Amino acid sequence: MMKYSINAEIPVMIETDVIVIGAGPGGLGAAVAAARNGAKTALIERFGFPGGMSTAGEVNPFMPNNSNGQAMDRTIYVEWVQAMHKYRSDDQDGDFDVSMSAHRSRSFTKEMAVLATEDLLLEAGVKIYYHHQLFDVCVKNGAIDSVILLSKSGLTAAKAKIYIDSTGDGDLAAKAGCEYEIGNEDGNCQPMTLCFKLSNIDTSRMPDSDTISRIYNKAKADGEISCPREDVLWFETIEDGVIHFNTTRVIMKSGVNGSDLSEAEIEARRQLRQYLTFLRKHISGFENARLRSIAPHIGIRETRRIKGMNYIGIEAFEKAQKFSDAIVRVSYPIDIHNPSGTGTIMRFLPENDWYEIPYGCIVAKDVKNLLIAGRSISVDHALHSSMRVMPPVCSIGHAAGLAAAMCVEEHKLPGNLDGKAVRRRLVEAGAFL
Ligand SMILES: Cc1cc2nc3c(=O)[nH]c(=O)nc-3n(C[C@H](O)[C@H](O)[C@H](O)COP(=O)(O)OP(=O)(O)OC[C@H]3O[C@@H](n4cnc5c(N)ncnc54)[C@H](O)[C@@H]3O)c2cc1C
Repeated sequence: MMKYSINAEIPVMIETDVIVIGAGPGGLGAAVAAARNGAKTALIERFGFPGGMSTAGEVNPFMPNNSNGQAMDRTIYVEWVQAMHKYRSDDQDGDFDVSMSAHRSRSFTKEMAVLATEDLLLEAGVKIYYHHQLFDVCVKNGAIDSVILLSKSGLTAAKAKIYIDSTGDGDLAAKAGCEYEIGNEDGNCQPMTLCFKLSNIDTSRMPDSDTISRIYNKAKADGEISCPREDVLWFETIEDGVIHFNTTRVIMKSGVNGSDLSEAEIEARRQLRQYLTFLRKHISGFENARLRSIAPHIGIRETRRIKGMNYIGIEAFEKAQKFSDAIVRVSYPIDIHNPSGTGTIMRFLPENDWYEIPYGCIVAKDVKNLLIAGRSISVDHALHSSMRVMPPVCSIGHAAGLAAAMCVEEHKLPGNLDGKAVRRRLVEAGAFL
């Protein structure tokens, strides 16, 4: 350990109504909703492009969060997918249906996601600051006074009335001193996965999933491949002959630890090299597979969950619980990839039913002017595994952005807003609630 302190005058680069940190699916919903509802909104993102895991993690497709075959996440999520649709080529058009129930309608490329996300943000009038990373937070009297950002310019400050943490990791909330949980009862988070795509596949000769996994487990037993995953997880894409893989598994590493992240990238790419050799050698249709893309950032499923004014857990799923101040509906199953080894737990709700997330789960309990948008809201490890998929996360962002704008409009703090009023305004804006 060594002592280090900074005592410097730094420029205040931004003074605005709402600052959203993180431009993933949660940040997209939050920034667009805040700006559309009249708040001057700045969006801070560490990378040079938006989309979070949908782009940097190359995660694909959108998992279904449906009722009666219709997407429940309206309106920003649906607009997002429609905006991506514009960047499909003519020969992919026929696959798209607006209910987004079909797999190919929920598939996209990271390039489509970058452009569509930015379109929505710019059209809403959000001021975007790429290449700026949250560095520190100044808290005064229990509220965030300013955030300190690090970029090529050095350190700058940014000030707002209301802040939204959509870093996925709860970075802003944690730095501001909020209580949080991390992982399961042992503190272990769901594993990380580096997504990749292979092209030049003869899909007409591809075996089914079970057969591929059987051959994979034989190769594992023969020492040809070493990966804790129990099967090969792959998806068709909107491009002919291109298969998406969500199948590397890096366990017992923390997504909020710098060294762990570095080691995880190296371990995931070691697995990827083995997968490439294995698939070309053993799986028909893959003989001439080409490495088409590797996600720029390893996929992070789970890190911090920030304690809110309300907190819900697995019982909400088991009882398909509904709330009078609900802001989002979720029908996606419990989906826990084993944090410490092999196996994946899936549990499903009755068909066409859902549980709801109440407003208090997005309001930070320990800092007055902070809302949480994205996967790091106030739920337990098991429920997190269900609500974390991109469609509901985008809707959580939508609710947080609207609530922030209402706070600005009514000169209130998030904790003093009536969650039922937020719900009413969401319904007026077309939400399925
Ligand atoms: C491997 C994997 C596979 C998945 N598969 C699917 C799937 O098939 N379908 C599905 O719907 N969902 C899937 N998910 C879940 C989904 O992708 C994520 O839960 C979702 O993207 C979370 O959204 P978010 O906005 O909360 O966070 P993120 O998508 O992580 O976005 C956070 C954003 O904040 C930025 N940021 C973070 N820290 C800082 C900082 N300090 N300063 C500035 N910016 C910062 C990041 O760069 C990023 O842009 C998967 C996730 C993973 C990891």
